[in-house]
Amino acid sequence: MLSYRHSFHAGSFADVLKHVVLVEMLEHLLQKAAPFEYIDTHAGAGLFNLKSGDSLKLNEHETGIGRIASKDFPELASYFEVVHAFNKASSLAYYPGSPAIAKHFLRPQDRGWLFELHPQDYESLCNNMQGNRKIRVAREDGLRGMTALLPPTSRRGMVLLDPSYEVKSDYDEVIETVAKAHKKFSAGMFAIWYPVVERRRIEHMERKLVLSGIRNIQRFELSRSADKSGRGMNAAGLFVVNPPWRLFDKMSSLLPRLAKAISDDDAGGYAGRHFKCDVITEE
Ligand code: SAM
Repeated sequence: MLSYRHSFHAGSFADVLKHVVLVEMLEHLLQKAAPFEYIDTHAGAGLFNLKSGDSLKLNEHETGIGRIASKDFPELASYFEVVHAFNKASSLAYYPGSPAIAKHFLRPQDRGWLFELHPQDYESLCNNMQGNRKIRVAREDGLRGMTALLPPTSRRGMVLLDPSYEVKSDYDEVIETVAKAHKKFSAGMFAIWYPVVERRRIEHMERKLVLSGIRNIQRFELSRSADKSGRGMNAAGLFVVNPPWRLFDKMSSLLPRLAKAISDDDAGGYAGRHFKCDVITEE
């Protein structure tokens, strides 16, 4: 049933967008000394070897993290700091997944909850998080696990929902779960990642979010080209509930440049045009 392995896709343009937003959300929580909780419903293996057979098969990092240099994106210093922390000077052999990124930022007073169902990825995740007493790893369904944890004891925190959407019902289930979770923890930040394989599925998610009545939702999306149906994933995005207040401005200036860097459409003069940065529901 679980055939998706993130090791084939680590460091792709979709990961870059997801992890840039993740770092911004974590840094927002770090601004106060009060503890917070980080919940990762679909954690993956935690850290990826870009020289592994899986990664070399598709080489997706070459058109993702491989296309952006830290010197060209000074505003992404914290994101690059984490990537560099897992690599020797100027090489790119490892790419941190969301758990490794969170682990890098969590302070002794904070807590992390990671859910992963795949037996091998669960084992790798446990190894990659080893020795970290502030992080709990569970081989359980992440949507149920997250709902049971809310509201967190600290009353501050964020949830990253990053399903693989192997099962089509994930598109509905993830939004329905966030609607329920938000009722238990309305001050929480929720980031819902999505792949654009069929645009109508994302439009459906967006409609469901609006109908849920949740206020203060923004969307950030990055595409390698204009929508192409039937050609796999060429765009990916995140819906963010209760985003950090500076996120929208930052992404407005960053996304056109990121889109240009990862675009497939240079020859057509479209580079840098394919992104979305919009407000789904107002505060
Ligand atoms: N969040 C990770 C990152 O950014 O590095 C990548 C996660 S990957 C897109 C999705 C993961 O969810 C896969 O490793 C898959 O095995 C796992 N998974 C699938 N269904 C799950 C479920 N119901 N609960 C928890 N994990 C699940």
